[in-house]
Amino acid sequence: MILILDEQVHPGTPLFAAIMEYLSHRPGVSARVHEVKGDLQTLTEIYLIGDTATLDRDEIAELAGVDRVVRVSREYRILGRHKDDFRPSGFEYNGVSFSQDSFELFAGLCAVDNRDSVDRMFRALAAQGLRCARMGAYKPRTSPYAFQGHGAACLPFVFESAASHGVSVIAMEVTHEKHIQEIHDALATAGNATGVMLQVGTRNTQNFELLKAIGRQHEFPVLFKRGFGITLEESLNAAEYLASEGNQRVVFCLRGVKSNLGEPHRNLVDFAQVPVVRRLTRMPVCVDPSHAVGRRDLSPDGIEDIHHAAVQGVVAGANMVLVDIHPEPGKALVDGPQALTLDELPLFVEDLKIAREAYLKRRAAHERARPPAELPKPADSQPA
Ligand code: PEP
Ligand code: MN
Repeated sequence: MILILDEQVHPGTPLFAAIMEYLSHRPGVSARVHEVKGDLQTLTEIYLIGDTATLDRDEIAELAGVDRVVRVSREYRILGRHKDDFRPSGFEYNGVSFSQDSFELFAGLCAVDNRDSVDRMFRALAAQGLRCARMGAYKPRTSPYAFQGHGAACLPFVFESAASHGVSVIAMEVTHEKHIQEIHDALATAGNATGVMLQVGTRNTQNFELLKAIGRQHEFPVLFKRGFGITLEESLNAAEYLASEGNQRVVFCLRGVKSNLGEPHRNLVDFAQVPVVRRLTRMPVCVDPSHAVGRRDLSPDGIEDIHHAAVQGVVAGANMVLVDIHPEPGKALVDGPQALTLDELPLFVEDLKIAREAYLKRRAAHERARPPAELPKPADSQPA
């Protein structure tokens, strides 16, 4: 059960104390307090866990200082969608909005190799009017002998270059808790002229201690990749770790799953699950066609598989695309075979625009046929 408090009620106020006092007399129920920062205001929410079936929902809704009460299903309590749950979803970071209605392209280097590649990449993004990018500084590699990324050493020139090209948000994977501080420090040194969305890679989807550390910080939003060898449900539960520690600013990324049934692609593309994630949770959904497809094959229609897969995700309602690009893929230190070139960026942007427009047209057509009020409500599974 979630109690959403009136906007003027926060920890430290008498009404908040009275609500907590009321709850302290309910046996078997514990309360966890979250501050949810919105664009205009910060709301306090109290999450009740334990034996909440014994609670009188109407009585709690009438308590002074309580705005609304939401009964949540056991799964994905914070990030999930629940019956009669009209909590706003999405967030803004560094002037960029992320929600199930927004759309952004994050293109860039899988792994930062040198300053020249970074500069060329950001210049190309700026020429397309793009304000987001991907850059890998810390790379989790299958082999311990493979290039592991330049780590903190490359952050100063990455952030400086991003700032000079007007890039506002960079998706950057972290593989260890200490990387968060390194990124914070380097951003501060660069005058916080750009920002970072911390990426959790597929190899760390269930690294719960890393998730808790990322969830405890409020500075950076998170791009969370599904695990490549676990069910969607397990990945969504893992994302919930971030929220349960306090960080609800999470984008969920589909990136394919490991299976030889996907061959010749690197992974079995799972973008048909975009609408599933949108239905089960309130998270914006990203697709990563580069790591899903993994190779630059051309179809007889003259369109590469990576473009096809990206568009499939966007036509299905994806809110973000993460794609590998490299000025000279042959020289890339990581994942060169799946990198698009800078010259291809304008066409990729155009392709996504066509797909996004197609999605919006599809949505309007379906809305005409079935008004939103008639849409099925998400199932209210066991209340908790
Ligand atoms: C990446 O995006 O650079 C990456 C390593 O992806 P994944 O974790 O999905 O393999
Ligand atoms: Mn990669």
